[in-house]
Amino acid sequence: MKMVAKGDLLYAWSKDKAIRDKGETGGTVTALLKYMLESHMVDAVYTMKKGVDIYDAVPVLITDPKDIIQTAGSIHCGTLLVPKQLAKCVLNAEPNMKVGVVTKGCDAMAMYEMAKRNQINLDNIVMIGVNCGGTVRPTMARKMIREKFGVDPDTVVKEEIDKGQFIIKTADGQHKGISMDELEEQGYGRRSNCRRCKMKIPRQADLACGNWGVIGDKVGNTTFVEVCSEKGALLMNKALEAGVVVTEPANPKGIEIRGKTEKAMFKLADKWREKYFKGADNGKERLEAVMKETSRCIRCYACIENCPICYCAECSTKKPYLVQPGQLPPDFMFHLIRFMHVADSCINCGQCEELCPAEIENSRLMHMIQSDLQGMFGYVPGVDMKLPVLALVEETDERERLAATGTDQIFKIFKE
Ligand code: FAD
Ligand code: SF4
Ligand code: SF4
Ligand code: SF4
Ligand code: SF4
Repeated sequence: MKMVAKGDLLYAWSKDKAIRDKGETGGTVTALLKYMLESHMVDAVYTMKKGVDIYDAVPVLITDPKDIIQTAGSIHCGTLLVPKQLAKCVLNAEPNMKVGVVTKGCDAMAMYEMAKRNQINLDNIVMIGVNCGGTVRPTMARKMIREKFGVDPDTVVKEEIDKGQFIIKTADGQHKGISMDELEEQGYGRRSNCRRCKMKIPRQADLACGNWGVIGDKVGNTTFVEVCSEKGALLMNKALEAGVVVTEPANPKGIEIRGKTEKAMFKLADKWREKYFKGADNGKERLEAVMKETSRCIRCYACIENCPICYCAECSTKKPYLVQPGQLPPDFMFHLIRFMHVADSCINCGQCEELCPAEIENSRLMHMIQSDLQGMFGYVPGVDMKLPVLALVEETDERERLAATGTDQIFKIFKE
């Protein structure tokens, strides 16, 4: 048998019929998670399963291989950021636990940024990436199904995003799809951060699994797997040896289609970035826009608590000498602190916007600044273990420089 190696592009499926039937596109991910538990490669698996309905994604920590099948299938309303929950709910108590985790693009990016901040030890993690065209907020999905599809959302048994369409299936066998472009032009559809997202195939993970590039009679029952690391290759080889998955080389035509689809998604994301970022080009206009938008803040800290870049035990926004206590809305300093600390590493995961009770477009604003900083300094968050721009400043050197020059202008961003 030819060994799987890093860089290989494969078609794969689970040998177990029950997993194949319940899995989204062949059940490869579920079969690999199960194998990792059975072979003690990991102590636990952290992923999502369907909760009360198809709009409800519940994070689960699983240690018994028998329970893994509950998690098979894709949940397109599953907008949770997996690594932040993993760190808060699991690794906080069990820092040395070896965990297999399923990661969308934003999850994989968060893993790297959190690892840089010593919140996650990547040596203990096996990351199975899933390609991601985007997720839809549960409230939006219900609204869209009611208003655009003319269907009661409680009768929907399956949702999927395929070939640019949002598709629903109802309990009585109805099958309806509407183009995502059409839905989004009318204010429905994916979260705004997902529209701008370019992390469609998470190659930072050990394996990147998806349906793009699967063609012919394999559509729907086969997973396209890109082997992204030595750890990923080892997992595939062991799973093959144990007979839990079947693989074959991906069809060259399929590889070409997958490449073209990824490029088309980048183009679409650029279009949305232009749309979302335009109109606030000038520094003063931008500041005014940010101040106006954040003036609705009720200081609930959800943006801080759910951001993968925020990790400090003592957050500066809670220091009374920086932000006056008990004042609503808080001084603008509250938001300035966050922009200063987070913007260079923001991964555009959308948590700070989606969970904001005041519906402030936090993610759009932070992502807009992050893209400018990336243009200036070249730091791309979430793709590797390179340190962010601010980490390059040595505090003692910086204090000496400040004393010598009398200016706090570290980089020549502003005109003298
Ligand atoms: P399965 O065996 O069914 O396992 C799926 C795993 O994904 C399970 O462990 C489950 O817990 C986990 N999971 C489900 N929902 C989420 C979620 N929201 N966040 C994190 N983990 C989750 N592939 C493409 O090629 N193009 C796409 O545009 C695309 N969009 C996707 C969008 C979303 C939101 C998701 C979750 C997946 C998407 N995929 C996409 C991947 C595809 O749907 C399958 O997950 C992939 O082909 C693996 O199939 P499988 O049968 O091997 O996975
Ligand atoms: Fe998927 Fe990107 Fe949205 Fe994350 S931000 S859910 S990777 S489209
Ligand atoms: Fe995600 Fe918002 Fe933090 Fe950016 S600032 S990483 S979008 S939570
Ligand atoms: Fe830390 Fe700054 Fe985030 Fe507060 S806002 S948690 S101080 S990074
Ligand atoms: Fe303010 Fe919204 Fe952040 Fe809450 S989540 S602190 S309301 S910006």
